[in-house]
Amino acid sequence: MRKIALEEHFTRPEMSAYAQYGGSSRGSPVFEGFQERLLDFGEMRLEAMDRAGIDLAVLSVTTPGVQAEPDTNVAIKRARIENDFLAREITKHPTRYAGFAHLPLQDAAAAADELSRCVEQLEFKGAMVNGHTNGRYLDERSYDPFWERVEALGVPIYLHPRDPFDAPHMFTGHRELSGATWVWTVETATHALRLVFGGVFDRYPKAKLILGHMGETLPYLLWRLDSRWRVQAGSEPIERAPSRIIRDNIFVTTTGVCSHASLLCALSALGEDSVMFSVDYPYEDCEVAAKFIDSAPVSDEVRAKVCHGTARRVLRL
Ligand code: ZN
Repeated sequence: MRKIALEEHFTRPEMSAYAQYGGSSRGSPVFEGFQERLLDFGEMRLEAMDRAGIDLAVLSVTTPGVQAEPDTNVAIKRARIENDFLAREITKHPTRYAGFAHLPLQDAAAAADELSRCVEQLEFKGAMVNGHTNGRYLDERSYDPFWERVEALGVPIYLHPRDPFDAPHMFTGHRELSGATWVWTVETATHALRLVFGGVFDRYPKAKLILGHMGETLPYLLWRLDSRWRVQAGSEPIERAPSRIIRDNIFVTTTGVCSHASLLCALSALGEDSVMFSVDYPYEDCEVAAKFIDSAPVSDEVRAKVCHGTARRVLRL
């Protein structure tokens, strides 16, 4: 079945040297093979897409990009360069590639303006946010102008993992817990729940968030969140149950979780209009991801929604 993929990454030689992408995974022999494919916008990437039946890949700067930059002005300037570069690459293959904006979230107003520029002038489909920005999370009230713009533009924000700002004691002594095995899941699910419980979706009910990795475990946990959140509720409790907010405002992609059990859980917990196919190229294998969705025990109608229908609607393609 024809597919659209949303968590597909790139870098440039200059960005690669600057941003130290990969965090705790960098340096592992498995990781080092990715560089060549991140830099390529031609044959290698298009062939991988063709083998998996992916018509369109929405490309984004690999994590963390400028979000690790301490100087706000440098982040603003560099984000612009990345977005202009991506826009030029898209014009070379306009039917195969689309873009997610890279944002200088050190400054909420600058990030909002860059998002507007990318959506309105470069025709990007939303933004890829690579986790926290130097320890700041998007539920901070200072980000309200950013969310206001997100809602006004009607584009989704894809929240991507990165290493946590600090290293909690509970992870010491077990390197295998780091990165995609577990730590990124905890970090990203926590960021998403900060948005839920921080009232972002009460203040901006039309804002749309996308999570990769089959929702970073959240679809599995809806009942428990509903059952227990009031016990710990803060001074400004949310207006809807957490499960309602997650169903209304959050979409998930299948990146890095090629498991039919997990897919059926996400479809059942969130609904068949909330789950979208993606790969996480080049960190995951396009063909493995394609075989997983093509063989999933769901109707062809649901498969079509997951493979391309929901993405077309959410990204307004
Ligand atoms: Zn990714």
